[in-house]
Amino acid sequence: MADGGVLTTELYLLAVLCALLLGLAVGKAWERYKLRDGRWIDRRRLRETPHYMLGLNFLVDNQVDQAIDELTQATSFDTDALEIQMILGNLYRQKGQVGRAINIHQGLLQRPDLTKLEQAYVLLCLGLDFRHGGFVDRALEAFQEVLRLDPRNRYALINLQKLYEDQHQWADALRVREQVVKIDAGRRRDDQQILGFLRNEMGVEQQRAGNGAAALRSFGEAIDVDSRTVPAYLNLGDAHEGAGRLADAVEAWERLVKAAPEHAHFAFDRLERAYGVMGAPHRFEELCERLIGRDPQGWRARLALSRHLAAAGKHRAAFDQLLDALPHHPHGLAIHQEIWEVLAALGFDPALIRRYMELTHEAVFYLDPHICRRCRYRSTEPLWQCPQCHEWNTFVEERLAPAKDVWVVPEAAEPADAGR
Ligand SMILES: [Zn+2]
Repeated sequence: MADGGVLTTELYLLAVLCALLLGLAVGKAWERYKLRDGRWIDRRRLRETPHYMLGLNFLVDNQVDQAIDELTQATSFDTDALEIQMILGNLYRQKGQVGRAINIHQGLLQRPDLTKLEQAYVLLCLGLDFRHGGFVDRALEAFQEVLRLDPRNRYALINLQKLYEDQHQWADALRVREQVVKIDAGRRRDDQQILGFLRNEMGVEQQRAGNGAAALRSFGEAIDVDSRTVPAYLNLGDAHEGAGRLADAVEAWERLVKAAPEHAHFAFDRLERAYGVMGAPHRFEELCERLIGRDPQGWRARLALSRHLAAAGKHRAAFDQLLDALPHHPHGLAIHQEIWEVLAALGFDPALIRRYMELTHEAVFYLDPHICRRCRYRSTEPLWQCPQCHEWNTFVEERLAPAKDVWVVPEAAEPADAGR
């Protein structure tokens, strides 16, 4: 019996092994050949051209032009390769050649042999082309069509949400995002946060339309869905204040400080003013001191407190607060400006100026800031090779522009090897 048992086991293992090998062989063949238009196509051929692999590598490296070159050459080996055509279209879109991208993707849609999923993905690309080109209605249509084919397509839903947001159609954006949240099933942390922001925007819109009651409800719901929806507290308080309910307003702003203390500074001006109106300015001092005690590195509460003290004529105490704030935020122009204001009020006392100068010497400043054009690594001096991305001659002087202007990054004039 024992021998027979062993034999059976061996036979069984052999059978499993044979089945595995057979499965592997069939799988390999299946992977290699794919039936299209009734003829077998060797899918491995693509991988035998260097252009396909090179193209994918350039793609990963974000070198769009080279990727387009290589992948275009690869398509001459296999004109049927849907995914490569799709990627090529996307690359043209990324380069800003939206018309070309649309042509490619529309051409793919004409293919008679697309599966439902393939059709959905080509439509998705087309929707992105339209969105990129500013054709809002056609983009909406494309994404909705994707969702008819593939109702749980998260990417299409997100794009639809963004389109509605661009049009300030907050209720529609919220409805779409709620579908995304259902798909995510609690796996993504930012879901509730986005629902909160969208509800808050709905409230702003209602407030603007004169529907104060609905606005109050929306702000409250925004806070309920995510207690860290900072603008909802501010708007809720503003709505109460506008209707003459200052105590309710203060309550809303104080709730913000409790729920998101690191964002408390958004409510500083409002609370300072309201406490003053209520004849209790000391409450602002107490609030700042509480926040400083909780987060000694937080410079905003110190700055707010120093301004409050200076306004009350307590310049020496304001100066001490500012010097405590400075090491935590040495780049902050607001602190330096406030220090000079207070120094002026104190008659430019040389001893105080010396204390200030000593402190700034110890602080880590970027005295002459330079930045890598490729990876945005910052350095206090120009470097010929970037220590982060290892690219040559990518450093330019960092120049800041107001947000509405474009970032000016001058082209480097000399090749890298010149200096080394
Ligand atoms: Zn770099």
